[in-house]
Amino acid sequence: ARKYVVKNTFKGLPKREDYEIVEYELPALKNGEILVKVEWVSVDPYLRAYNARYPTPYDQFSYQVGLVEDSKDPRFPVGTRVVSHKGWCDYCIIDTNDTKSDAGKVYKLPNLKGLSNSLGVGAVGMPGATAYFGFLEICKPKAGETVVVTGAAGAVGSLVGQIAKIKGCKVIGFAGSDDKVKWLEEIGFDKAINYKTADVAAALKAAAPKGVDCYFDNVGGEISSTIINQMNDNGRVSVCGAISSYNDANLPKAPILQPSIVFHQLKIEGFLVWRWLDRQPEAFAELIKWIHSGQLKPREHITEGFENIFDAFVGMLNGENTGKAVVKL
Ligand code: NDP
Repeated sequence: ARKYVVKNTFKGLPKREDYEIVEYELPALKNGEILVKVEWVSVDPYLRAYNARYPTPYDQFSYQVGLVEDSKDPRFPVGTRVVSHKGWCDYCIIDTNDTKSDAGKVYKLPNLKGLSNSLGVGAVGMPGATAYFGFLEICKPKAGETVVVTGAAGAVGSLVGQIAKIKGCKVIGFAGSDDKVKWLEEIGFDKAINYKTADVAAALKAAAPKGVDCYFDNVGGEISSTIINQMNDNGRVSVCGAISSYNDANLPKAPILQPSIVFHQLKIEGFLVWRWLDRQPEAFAELIKWIHSGQLKPREHITEGFENIFDAFVGMLNGENTGKAVVKL
């Protein structure tokens, strides 16, 4: 089998030399273990953000969808499709009784009723649950309210915007290219803005003359302060991620926010998607329903080949993806 091992703590953008592809013999299966042939591998921002927390070397974790090819656990017979967290590898052995470590996390792929299995690491996986709970539970949007999403053309952001439309909100998205902006308006965003070329404060004022009620923050940094300074009384901010700072520790100081937070009585809350792990099936059922009814259009940015996982990862960090970045093995 082959797997990617992270050799170094990243400095700035990850480099190919920070990884080593290791080839090794898989041992015989023990009781409670399954052998999985990996079909889809996910590349996500948290693989960058969490790097400093792990002593190197470590196996690159991440979500994957695969097929059980051999099994010593009757709950996962041969032929079962599973979602697990064994990362960037082509084959792996999963100890299904290891509930303590992330690597043991494994569950059956939900019945997608004909949709692509890759959605198990996307709209019907961790990013889907992030959008569903992180937006609905924290922003508690009401019909008619104005919602702003940054990172709007990405995996999580594009789902949040579409869920906000389903809930009857007015939705404004910020993304990093004109093509992304065009796509967001095609899938129903009321307004999309290229934050790299626009005057963000002025463009937002024009798009949301009555102010912003909910802000789903995927990027952090200066643009978030600009948006928060245009929020209405009792506005809610769901702080999902801060990708603008993951590769850059020397960001300029953002404008001061506290007066807006106090005088508009804002609620700002960070979250980790694991908070709702027990309720994941509820989110997945709803997301599958919306996709089948055509209300939710998940898009994927697919890279092919085990050798190209690293490039897909850095490409995603650089904004090359529209929708969920995923690798097909
Ligand atoms: P995306 O699919 O959105 O991909 C990352 C995108 O980030 C890129 O396409 C790029 O789009 C944008 N980006 C890159 N650099 C910058 C920058 N300097 N400023 C602004 N945008 C930038 O990734 P995900 O949807 O998977 O993740 C989105 C966010 O959600 C991340 O911050 C991630 O860490 C967070 N997250 C948090 C979870 C939680 O439990 N709290 C769970 C899952 C994700 P563009 O072209 O628009 O710049």
